[in-house]
Amino acid sequence: MMPVGCHVSIAGGVALAPQRAKELGCETFQIFTQNQRQWKSMVIDSQTAGEFRQERKKHGFEQQPVFSHASYLINMCASDADNLRRSRTALIDEIGRCDTLGVEYLVIHPGSHGGKGEEWGLATIAETLAEVLDKTHPAVIVLLETTAGQGTALGYRLEQLAEIIEQCNAAGKVQVCLDTCHLFAAGYPLHTAEGYRKTMRDIDAILGWDKVKCLHLNDSLKPFASRKDRHAQLGVGEIGEDVFRSLVKEIKIPGILEIPGGDEAFKRNLAMLKEFRSA
Ligand SMILES: [Zn+2]
Ligand SMILES: [Zn+2]
Repeated sequence: MMPVGCHVSIAGGVALAPQRAKELGCETFQIFTQNQRQWKSMVIDSQTAGEFRQERKKHGFEQQPVFSHASYLINMCASDADNLRRSRTALIDEIGRCDTLGVEYLVIHPGSHGGKGEEWGLATIAETLAEVLDKTHPAVIVLLETTAGQGTALGYRLEQLAEIIEQCNAAGKVQVCLDTCHLFAAGYPLHTAEGYRKTMRDIDAILGWDKVKCLHLNDSLKPFASRKDRHAQLGVGEIGEDVFRSLVKEIKIPGILEIPGGDEAFKRNLAMLKEFRSA
């Protein structure tokens, strides 16, 4: 049975997130550890971290891992040297904040090579991860997320994630987050019964389900294989609700919603997932 949750706002302070998650009906949740649109790094002081841990316990989120999503500004294979350096520093800070908070997993998009080529991009991402992990020796595990493959974004094939993991040689510190919207947009046919089965088998053969620690449960506003990343509420996009009905019953790893529509949408979609699960 899949534990379910959603991306929760940290407006007003990160320590407010657990209560907010509880009120939405989450069993686990995902946060940004700071404003994801700014480069300037924030340090989380020990008092704030203590409050977060206390609130997490108080609201019953100790049994399940909690996730953080890294800033969208970070590009682990930026073609510009300054941007690459800045990205590596920002990633070190993301990892530090997760460790301070006791967040178990940090989800990150692999990056966009900006025209330097896929081979270069994959090698550079692996180099970034190896360097950053060597500098931090974190408790947090980094989860590479599958992408829709917009522009020169990497991670739109499961093989690319497998290659990065192999190349960075990080002894279990780099694993995987699968996003249903991104898989579908990248050309994995989740919407047909046969395509769904094949994708599940491919995940096992190429990555191994043991490496998958999080599922992002999002429907897709854009059609199959469009390579466009636009999330939709469950059942109102092109993937359709049957896929989510199957996933919550078959998969035991946590599922996180990242859908539009605000708190009401989160509440409604979480209730729907719990209903699918118990049906
Ligand atoms: Zn996602
Ligand atoms: Zn997305």
